[in-house]
Formats: sequence, structure tokens, C-alpha cells
Amino acid sequence: MIYLDANATTPLDPAVLEAMLPFLSENWANASANYAAGRKARKALQNAREHVAALIDVEDREVVFTSGATESINAVHASVRHLWPQNRLLITTKAEHAAGLQCAARWEQSGGEVCRLGVDRSGLIDLKELRKALQSSQAALVSILWANNETGIIQPMREIVAMAHEYGALVHADAVQMIGKAPMDAKVDFLSLSGHKFHAPKGIGALIVNQRVRFEPLLVGGGQEGGRRSGTENVPGIVGLGQAAALAMSPCSGDLRNAFEAQLTRDWPEAVIHGRHAPRLPNTTSICFPGIDAAGMLILLDQAGIACSAGSACHTSSLHPSHVLEAMGYDSAHAASTLRFSFSRMNTFIEATQAAETVLNSARKMRAIGSAHSRLTT
Ligand code: PLP
Repeated sequence: MIYLDANATTPLDPAVLEAMLPFLSENWANASANYAAGRKARKALQNAREHVAALIDVEDREVVFTSGATESINAVHASVRHLWPQNRLLITTKAEHAAGLQCAARWEQSGGEVCRLGVDRSGLIDLKELRKALQSSQAALVSILWANNETGIIQPMREIVAMAHEYGALVHADAVQMIGKAPMDAKVDFLSLSGHKFHAPKGIGALIVNQRVRFEPLLVGGGQEGGRRSGTENVPGIVGLGQAAALAMSPCSGDLRNAFEAQLTRDWPEAVIHGRHAPRLPNTTSICFPGIDAAGMLILLDQAGIACSAGSACHTSSLHPSHVLEAMGYDSAHAASTLRFSFSRMNTFIEATQAAETVLNSARKMRAIGSAHSRLTT
């Protein structure tokens, strides 16, 4: 298999597995225990916390380990809504990940007001629209997907933070897709990340909480994580996250993705790369082959051993048109002809070249099937 679906999940790095194994076998103690094995587990948690803090460039006490980004995003929204109920406005975008979209819906259900900023053809928000929203009423939170999981387009987070802070609003960034891929040059109040997107296991992630900002935990109980996230710590998962963070310190290059795109667009000039000229993750390409059915392409590519995803549905088997492409002004036919390929540092140049050739062959086959079908039906 040539795996080009890293934005969905990444393979576990062997070095991450190696770091975790002792904490799944001989060293299984509870990190709260007051004997030697417990202290060892606690030390491993602290070590992991320092690696994650160094990766994000925050203080280690600002790192709260969670079960993943979905939990982190939910925790931020619930906390801000609870602590500042008088500031009713949440500002977000129409192109969020499902976790952000659903949290915004909950915000409304709890009596809050939501402004969903649109994006342009390049997938970028308009900062003038953000300012207008901030002026309209007292916003509690601006919650924005830093890099889009479908298109890889990167929002201008530094400008977003500066503007939101001018109006006294807090900022949450879903940075899940940024980690290990692009430099994070903005100081947000809350940041969500997920281990399985950068070669750690699934079910572990973190929420970064700026130490100057009040935070109300989503999960209460034993008071772990400084009272900010109760529940016995997932020591092996956290150790894996720490090791993955240490390995993700240097952002990946775009060489494979660029070579892949160049090969596709040279042989298929009608192909449309979404957000091509916008700031984009170096590992992601969202590409439309106009008139070619992406669902059919996916089947052919799967048969040929290429794992990628359709631009039209990333988290369920339903083929709803992508809300992200819709927000960018593309119609459902365009979305239904879109595929997403996402690379990780574990891919090779040969894989990129072979995959591009296979994609082109599959598109040619789909075009031949399409023209045979239209000859039969006319
Ligand atoms: N945010 C983005 C941008 C994602 O791509 C994902 C994963 O699909 C999530 C949030 C959710 O992360 P997790 O799987 O850790 O809950």
C-alpha cells in the first residue's frame, strides 16, 4: 500500500512504539502512586510534557494531556461558555473540522450566538469580516481551524490573535494539522492537538491552556493534570506523544507533495488544486479532476494499493458534498470530483511518483468509462 492519507491518521513511528513499550509491559504503575514505580511513571509524564511544550513553544505547565483533539476542542468551548456566559458571541468559520462545527452548534443550543465567517476561493477568512464580527458584540471566543484538514490551507493566525485580543476575545486554534508540518508563529490562548496525526497512537492528545487564562475542566474527578483534566493518566499514550513531539520538531518539506502535484498537473492540465496560491501545508493536496467521479477513483485507487480520501467526506461513509469546498464557493459536482492526498515523513519520493502515475491512469480509466456511458445513453 502507498499510504497518502496522513491527514486522517499517521502510522506509528517505530521509535514512538519503542518508547511506549516499557509502559505497557513492566512499568505499568499509576502515575499518582507514591512508590518507586509510580515516581518513574510520573517522571515519564513530565518528560513527555516538556517535549510537547518545546514543540509548541509554551511552558510545560500549560500542557494538559487529553484523549485527543475532539476532547480538547469540546473542553475549550465548554469552559469559555461556562466562565463568560455574558459574552454570548462565538466567532468561528464555515470550514471547521466536525468537532469545531458541532461545538458551535452546542454553543447556540446553550443560548449563545455564533458568527460563522466565510472563506474565499483560496479558503482564507477575510480579516475585515472578523473585525466586523468583533465590533458587533462582545465575543468570548474566536475558535478557528489553523490549517484545514481537507485542503491544508493555513489561516493567518497571528493577525487573528492580534485582532481578537484588541477586542478582549480569547482565541482557540485547532492546530491538529499544523504539528510537524508548518511553523506555528502565533501565541493563542488555547491550542488543540492530536497525537495520531503526527505518528503517536490514537486516543492521546493535548490542550494547551495559556497560564494567564482561566479554565474550567470538562472532566472532574481525581484532579489529575493539575485539576484541569481528571482521569488516570494514559501513561503509554503520553510517553508516545512526547516521543512523537520530539521527532516533530523540524517541519516536513514539501518536496514530495510538490513533485506529485507537478506530475499530475503536467499530464492533466484541467486539474484544479485548491488554494494553490494560498499559504498551505506542505504535505496536503486537494485536487479536483473536473468531470471525473472521485468515488469511482477511490475504488480504482484502492484496488491499485493507494490509500487516499475523497474531498467530499472525510469522517463518515456518507458522501455529502464537502462543506469546506462549498464554503470556498465550489459546487457539489466539483466537490464530487475532488480527492485529497496527504503525505507524511514516512513517504518516499518513489511512492510519490508511482502514486501520481496510478492516479493519472485511474483518471484516464474513469474518463473512458464516462465517455462509453455517455455514448450508450445518447
Ligand atoms: N481537528 C482536526 C483538524 C482533525 O483533522 C481532527 C481529526 O480528524 C480532529 C480535530 C479530531 O482529532 P481526534 O481524532 O484526536 O479527536
